[in-house]
Amino acid sequence: MLQGKSVIVTGSTSGIGLGIARAFAEQGADVLLNGFGEPDAIDSLRHELETRHGVRVRYSPADLASPAAIRGMADYARGEFGKVDILVNNAGIQHVAPLEEFPEDRWDAILAVNLSSAFHLIKAVLPEMKARRWGRIVNVASAHGLSASPFKSAYVAAKHGLVGLSRAVALEVAEYGVTCNTLCPGYVKTPLVERQIADQVRAHGISADNVVRDVLLAHQARKEFVAVEELAALTLFLCSDAAASMTAAALAMDGGWTQH
Ligand code: NAD
Repeated sequence: MLQGKSVIVTGSTSGIGLGIARAFAEQGADVLLNGFGEPDAIDSLRHELETRHGVRVRYSPADLASPAAIRGMADYARGEFGKVDILVNNAGIQHVAPLEEFPEDRWDAILAVNLSSAFHLIKAVLPEMKARRWGRIVNVASAHGLSASPFKSAYVAAKHGLVGLSRAVALEVAEYGVTCNTLCPGYVKTPLVERQIADQVRAHGISADNVVRDVLLAHQARKEFVAVEELAALTLFLCSDAAASMTAAALAMDGGWTQH
């Protein structure tokens, strides 16, 4: 379906981004991986995807807190693949604390990685997408881009910001064949959420099962984690020609959470 297309997926060494990167490779797209991790593990992942799917897979260790590194990553992708057709801004970090105790450096880091990195990367790839009159931008926000929870001020602010940024970009480029949409997932069991479960077990002195049922999935009406594969399938749909008219959308895939 996506042979000949090339895609950057940020934060694709783990969790949702990795699932999305795998799905693109399966569909025949060349993929630029990004994120932190063990060099050997990233190298075997690259090799596995290339040999299994016959696509080119490259890796950029760019730290998304650095605008210069982000621009360098876009240049690297263009140098390796000749173009960037699809951009998935997925990388994100979390910190949970009451506002009065929220560390300022964590606020700055969350805004930089979860919001500003998307601005810098979109800015770097948009001119070529407009010139080719085809492009797809998918930003991974969160149910927290549509509703709030206490103690997650930076994350909620950044994810609401990402929804707003996506809508503004979508309107700016709507006549150039470029779409820009946001995914708003509910809880997905990835390393990011595993860390939150461990923190809550420590904070409340309750079991991990209770944290999942009574805290994390309390508002997720389906009472199941969203699967990475479901988010990857929605991302592929947004990148298909069938989704040409779908732009500026903030798509909840959250087991009903945001309708509570
Ligand atoms: P994860 O922790 O498993 O993966 C995060 C990825 O981002 C990793 O590859 C990591 O190396 C990368 N990353 C972090 N900081 C970076 C930086 N400064 N520069 C480059 N890469 C960096 O997390 P996940 O759960 O897969 O989350 C992916 C996205 O989905 C995030 O934006 C997150 O906010 C969002 N999200 C997650 C959930 C969930 O329940 N897991 C729910 C809604 C939204």
